Amino acid sequence: MVQSVITRVGEGLSGARDSATQYDPTYDPLVSPGPGQGKQYAPTYWVATAGTPPPDDGPITKDIDVDVAIIGAGYTGLATALCLAREHGIKAVVLEANRTSWGCSSRNGGQGQNASGRLSRSQWVERWGKDVALKMHDEIQEGFDNFKKLVAEIDCDPQPGGHFLIAHRPRLMAKLAAESKVWKDVFGYPSELIDQATFRREYVNDSEAAGALHEPEGIGIHALKLAFGYLRLAREAGAKVHPASPVIGWETINGIHHLRTPGGIVRARSVGIATGAYTAQNLHPSLTSRVMPILSNSMVTRPLTSQEIAACNFRTTQVLTDTRTLRFYYRFLPDNRLQIGSRSAITGADAPNSKHFELLVEGMGRKFPALRGVAIDYSWWGWVDVSHDMMPRVCQPDPKQQVFYALGYGGNGVSYSQQAGRRLAERIAGKAEKQTLPIFTSPLPGHPFAPFRRIGQRMLYQMYFRRDEKP
Ligand SMILES: Cc1cc2nc3c(=O)[nH]c(=O)nc-3n(C[C@H](O)[C@H](O)[C@H](O)COP(=O)(O)OP(=O)(O)OC[C@H]3O[C@@H](n4cnc5c(N)ncnc54)[C@H](O)[C@@H]3O)c2cc1C
Repeated sequence: MVQSVITRVGEGLSGARDSATQYDPTYDPLVSPGPGQGKQYAPTYWVATAGTPPPDDGPITKDIDVDVAIIGAGYTGLATALCLAREHGIKAVVLEANRTSWGCSSRNGGQGQNASGRLSRSQWVERWGKDVALKMHDEIQEGFDNFKKLVAEIDCDPQPGGHFLIAHRPRLMAKLAAESKVWKDVFGYPSELIDQATFRREYVNDSEAAGALHEPEGIGIHALKLAFGYLRLAREAGAKVHPASPVIGWETINGIHHLRTPGGIVRARSVGIATGAYTAQNLHPSLTSRVMPILSNSMVTRPLTSQEIAACNFRTTQVLTDTRTLRFYYRFLPDNRLQIGSRSAITGADAPNSKHFELLVEGMGRKFPALRGVAIDYSWWGWVDVSHDMMPRVCQPDPKQQVFYALGYGGNGVSYSQQAGRRLAERIAGKAEKQTLPIFTSPLPGHPFAPFRRIGQRMLYQMYFRRDEKP
């Protein structure tokens, strides 16, 4: 008996299969039927410098039966497979539409922060009260400690030392001071407030910086080398990773999930969804309109000369972000280039419009006048998975179905995705009794005006622009 026909994903993919594996710069998860099949990576600095990808298990070529299938081979999917194998003895099969970590995990800024979601620690206290906020802090810190252990296992050019949160206006120093006090008084998490002159002299001469808050946790990593490391470790532990194998249809028959890929059907007892912001609207009903995909632009300069480095006073290689809502994030890379990113277009169709690139170049020039006119060697963009309440979820949305997901990190997924993968693995293995935090016990919230979200987003972007960009 067919219990339920859940969904059909990616109708129309067959055309894409025949014609194009080239990178599609206009891909838009709210519009496109699916992320494609076997597509090239975005033209990122990480892709250009990661070296030869490690071996994988090739595309699915026939029907197979598995215990656990994971959809998506970004950090989350690979970390889930790794933990399932290492900690629970379960050898999962990972299905990736394109190439390993083709989505966010090959496009991010490589900033591993002691955070997840978009809420600050003081906002956790406001939302959940002190006791839950303290447990949340422990969860994030444990995740960061686990992240550090994995980074130590993988050759991924770590730049440790912490994270600077830069006040981009003088009035925001008071906000940083208040946050720092909450970190110390409530969480016992140390930080240091740094005045403008000291920051520009000792760390970096960012012309917009009115000062900064420094936290001791934070590591910059090479985004794709980290992903390739996860791939290697997961396969060594017994997982299988199949690129060019998009899930394009999903039926549940007598509790078994039949995941249709172009090469065959994968029949799985349990499914973990790890598709981040690249989740198509029709992948699974539990995720329809649950994630707001937001574009972020990133670029990397040519290697800077010693004069340019001196003018910008790049003395720190730690990761930096600023206090804008659509924040700038940047880092001085090991090969003397600057990586910097920030807001982008609202739709995929508009993403290649040069005005977004120019806005980022202009932002870099405001921070570092000495870099005006410097050649940009790499420019790309990607979709960030923002949830409607600004916090991630690792959960089983329907207790009657062996379907689980981990997503919604809101641009703070480089470090937490591996902990989310660990939690997802526990859930799949039936060992989630200790997962009592709200991010584990409730599904991602929907949005009452889902079809109109982008109209609201456009209005918000105008407001943020007036507030954060105008002098
Ligand atoms: C430009 C940019 C900058 C960022 N900078 C930072 C940063 O500095 N620090 C930070 O913490 N976070 C950052 N992030 C966010 C971070 O990259 C993500 O949180 C993280 O990579 C999420 O990993 P993931 O595995 O959950 O998702 P992804 O890496 O997006 O992986 C999801 C995968 O699922 C696959 N998929 C989707 N649908 C299907 C299907 N139907 N079948 C099979 N496979 C499918 C996709 O092809 C994709 O490869 C940034 C994101 C972007 C876009």
